[in-house]
Amino acid sequence: MQTFDVIVLGAGINGCGVAENLARSGKQVLLLDKSGVGQGTSSKSSRLIHGGLRYLETGQLHLVHESLHDRQRLVKKYPDLVEYKRFFLPIYKSSPRPAWMIRTGLWMYDLLSGSRSAGKSRLERIEDFKIRFSAFSENNLRSVLSYVDAKTHDRELTRRVADDFQKLGGTVIVHCDVESINWDDSGFHLKSSAGEFTSAVLVNASGPWIDEVNERYGLPTRFHIRKVSGIHLIFDGLVVPELMFMQTREKRIFFIIPEPENDQTLIGTTEREENCTMDELHAQEADVQYLLDQVNAYLKPGHHFQRKDVRDIYIGVRPLVRKKGKMSDVSREYKLDLHTRGNTKLLHIFGGKLTTYLSLAEKVAKVLGG
Ligand SMILES: Cc1cc2nc3c(=O)[nH]c(=O)nc-3n(C[C@H](O)[C@H](O)[C@H](O)COP(=O)(O)OP(=O)(O)OC[C@H]3O[C@@H](n4cnc5c(N)ncnc54)[C@H](O)[C@@H]3O)c2cc1C
Repeated sequence: MQTFDVIVLGAGINGCGVAENLARSGKQVLLLDKSGVGQGTSSKSSRLIHGGLRYLETGQLHLVHESLHDRQRLVKKYPDLVEYKRFFLPIYKSSPRPAWMIRTGLWMYDLLSGSRSAGKSRLERIEDFKIRFSAFSENNLRSVLSYVDAKTHDRELTRRVADDFQKLGGTVIVHCDVESINWDDSGFHLKSSAGEFTSAVLVNASGPWIDEVNERYGLPTRFHIRKVSGIHLIFDGLVVPELMFMQTREKRIFFIIPEPENDQTLIGTTEREENCTMDELHAQEADVQYLLDQVNAYLKPGHHFQRKDVRDIYIGVRPLVRKKGKMSDVSREYKLDLHTRGNTKLLHIFGGKLTTYLSLAEKVAKVLGG
């Protein structure tokens, strides 16, 4: 039986971030995952470190502000992995939000970024856009705006945080099947395929598996999640020269994300409420077609994508805290759910974005009193 101060279950970005933060303050931390580091949602995202322009529309100013602050910190902390990029936003006659509304949103976004912003939003010259984005339809193009956010590689970032944790003396065990968790006044006792472990504190950072984990190990909880999946399509080559923020006629959004380092382009994402277990999850053909239709609506006929052009598809699940309402209106803010027994503590992490893992880890440390 090995004893630690804290055991963290789940080596996604949140589990790795929490483990690193606690190890930095001198705690002996064990990080366990049933698969590998960053193999869950933390390698299925849009790979953006962003404030979330569209969260302005739902009034989630606190989330946008926190995210922009974390964005600036991450660009400084991992300059080789998190880089500022300019996003282009073409506005057509049929766009559901008029240019003035988007300009107001971008102005607010710049303001919330404050001096932290790496560059301001601006109006682009339509003639330049037509030359550089030559596959895009020019019919009814009204204006082109651009703004700055950041881009990363989600799995690499998560792995880097796990490496930093290990450099601080932390222990990572992957491909570990936790068979049981018993909680008594002395702490948590875990039996697993890698041995037996005990600790006074358990942090449950199992992301979209959280309800399944709580049920399997009989852990108490105040919240449940809505599993909202999103897919991305991968195409060979660089479809566009810069990142693009696109609107659909139904007021949803999607990104076109060129990755010159891999010579590929990502297009995503979608939203679908899932009622299956995480193991049963798979991308639906209807969502693939939806993304193809959305992007083709903006392309000149000769440049349309076919199903056969899709090189790969990946799917991830947003673990959103369960509330009634439209999926896109459910807050992306995370919740920390603390349970105590004597001097022992169980903390569940519900939700959270890649972008905000630093703030989340700091709050976890505060809640745990470390
Ligand atoms: C489609 C999509 C696009 C997104 N785009 C962005 C974006 O551009 N920017 C952004 O900031 N955020 C984005 N997000 C959100 C972000 O990706 C996630 O919120 C974040 O990765 C969640 O990290 P996590 O550590 O909580 O969960 P995960 O990365 O899922 O990690 C949970 C870990 O728990 C492990 N686990 C599960 N059960 C057990 C068990 N029984 N024992 C041990 N380990 C277990 C899993 O193997 C997994 O590794 C996106 C999410 C989705 C779905």
